[in-house]
Amino acid sequence: MVEVRYSPQTETELHLFNLIEAQEHEQVVFCSAPEVGLRAIIAIHNTTLGPALGGTRMWTYASDLDALKDVLRLSRAMTYKAAVAGLNLGGGKAVIIGNPKTDKSEALFRAYGRFIEGLAGRYITAEDVGTSVQDMEYVRMETKYVTGISRALGGSGDPSPVTALGVYMGMKACVKEVFGTDSLAGRSVAVQGLGHVGMHLCRHLAKEGARLYVTDLYEERIQELLKDVKAEVVAPEAIYDVPADIFSPCALGGVINSETIPRFRFKIIAGAANNQLADEDLHGRMLMERRILYAPDYVINAGGLINVANELEGYNRERALEQARGIYDIVRQVIELAKQERIATHEAANRLAEERLRRVGAIKHIYTGQSEFSGRLGQLRRYGR
Ligand code: NAD
Repeated sequence: MVEVRYSPQTETELHLFNLIEAQEHEQVVFCSAPEVGLRAIIAIHNTTLGPALGGTRMWTYASDLDALKDVLRLSRAMTYKAAVAGLNLGGGKAVIIGNPKTDKSEALFRAYGRFIEGLAGRYITAEDVGTSVQDMEYVRMETKYVTGISRALGGSGDPSPVTALGVYMGMKACVKEVFGTDSLAGRSVAVQGLGHVGMHLCRHLAKEGARLYVTDLYEERIQELLKDVKAEVVAPEAIYDVPADIFSPCALGGVINSETIPRFRFKIIAGAANNQLADEDLHGRMLMERRILYAPDYVINAGGLINVANELEGYNRERALEQARGIYDIVRQVIELAKQERIATHEAANRLAEERLRRVGAIKHIYTGQSEFSGRLGQLRRYGR
């Protein structure tokens, strides 16, 4: 991704437009409705490919500057994720400043929904850390530019099975590269985190005959898996040391770092967690030097985004699953480019995204909103490579 050239550390160092320009954002919207306690920031990074789609995070930020930096970072990442997944979507994200346990109300989310409506389709939201399907249903009372609502209301519901399928297919693409066949039969996989995604992933892997090492912080998650899947259970801290072919981080970010990498005996890393590399360049290159094939997180976990993107066309589970299977080819393409250019796979993924943005950007830049809404979304499909 492009280098961030300006990163103020305090509110007094902040020059708003410098910060926005440094990461090449198109538009940042500050939403204030003190009567319902709403303070939100919507960041639209890039609409070259289509309307900016990304979730709304609710978090107790230490300062407004922290909230702004977070939303700028997250929205830019969405541009890359949509671009490399071949979706006709731009990158956006929003944050609501507040405590998700105590500060939520129908009035707050409806006020927030009216701000989204005011953007006339340039930004489409979804749930994220700190927000729920219920919150999005309040937003939906005020605007149609919201995804991730329940199946009962015509939405796509829980994205995790689609994400898990994408991770499984991306993992197979890596296995093909390293072992010459994409079969997981007899391969060993260390799965960190048996949550929504990890649980579905383990079932795919077990069905194909993979040997599993698993861990979670909660005993009930482990017991739930062991009801129908055979696996060797290890303590959370021991997962980095198991002698598995593949490591699949499906819990939290930052787990690939200078402390864990020297412990790895894995040949492949392919998991659902966001921001797996503690330092993208440093640790991406460390993996490359050790000949550990890393499936870039935002490429392999794009099934969740593919799922909500499908909702915009009238949700069809089969179509979403089919598109998630396409992650196999995308990961292959990333690997090929990395080999050709002798670069790390995360750099190859970034290049593919930037190349697509450049090609399409040569035709059209700013997405202008409502008048094009149905036309553009009608074409929302995997981009033919
Ligand atoms: P989840 O909260 O349902 O599951 C996470 C699991 O990891 C929990 O069971 C938790 O107990 C466990 N865990 C947490 N810390 C751990 C540790 N140190 N060691 C072992 N286990 C630990 O989350 P999820 O929806 O399954 O998502 C997993 C990851 O994938 C997250 O990073 C998420 O951001 C990312 N992701 C999820 C989706 C999706 O569709 N759900 C899509 C894209 C990315």
